[in-house]
Amino acid sequence: MLCPRVVFITGANRGLGLEFVRQFLKLGNPPDHLFATCRDPERAEELKILKKEDDRIQIIKLDVTSQTDIDAAARQVEDRVGDRGLNLLINNAGMTRKRQYVGNLNRDHLLEQFDTNVIGPLLVTQSLMPLLLRAASLYNEPDSCNKAAIVNISSILGSIAENKSGGMYGYRPSKAAMNMVTKSLHEELKNKGILVAALHPGWVRTGIGGPEATLSPEESIKDCLNVLSKLSTEKSGCLLSNNGDKIEW
Ligand code: NDP
Repeated sequence: MLCPRVVFITGANRGLGLEFVRQFLKLGNPPDHLFATCRDPERAEELKILKKEDDRIQIIKLDVTSQTDIDAAARQVEDRVGDRGLNLLINNAGMTRKRQYVGNLNRDHLLEQFDTNVIGPLLVTQSLMPLLLRAASLYNEPDSCNKAAIVNISSILGSIAENKSGGMYGYRPSKAAMNMVTKSLHEELKNKGILVAALHPGWVRTGIGGPEATLSPEESIKDCLNVLSKLSTEKSGCLLSNNGDKIEW
């Protein structure tokens, strides 16, 4: 059963991040602390409504491209959970740009996607690592998302093997790099009790997925939580789809 006690989610104000928050709160045994982070807490209306109903949610300001925000967010989690550590980090925040074809590319847009989709999540992970290691050391049980795990919301569009249509010169390489970060973290952490996975949530009707996508956020996150509930050492270090299958890099 999926029941991590302390969960941290980036980009939690809308789309898949917000749906993660909603569905974590509906678990049979919801987290004691659910850190829902977003760039602009003042404008996170839906998160604020959820918080009014459930004070297990902590809304924290976090732009993943700001080291100041990352450091401050990690301090707030540390202050709140202390020795319990962090069980589950979901690096969900991400972005893409439209019209990413040769002839229309520019440096700032390419860098922005790399910063948000790879460098930000990696530095968020670094700053929360002491808390993840602490949680991992507290549980004498097989590795799982209840104990300690890092889940990077990646994309099948970052798979080189699955690339049959090209283009998307900022998004695809940034997610491919996120996949490599996932594998490297897994190799570094596999004997320390922390699982690491990259998860493709399916094609979902959100800001990034657009209105034509096949899945609703509810359907996607239901699938994702099912995958997380079964995550184990066998699938750590892999890119997984929302049905739990491994996707070739
Ligand atoms: P949305 O565009 O609906 O949501 C993106 C979220 O990321 C928003 O909360 C946004 O915050 C946040 N975000 C963007 N930049 C930053 C930043 N610098 N710091 C912090 N938060 C930021 O898209 P999704 O919900 O679909 O995207 C969630 C994840 O799922 C992404 O990583 C995406 O790549 C991945 N994904 C989505 C698919 C889909 O079909 N929807 C398919 C495969 C992967 P703000 O409101 O402030 O802009």
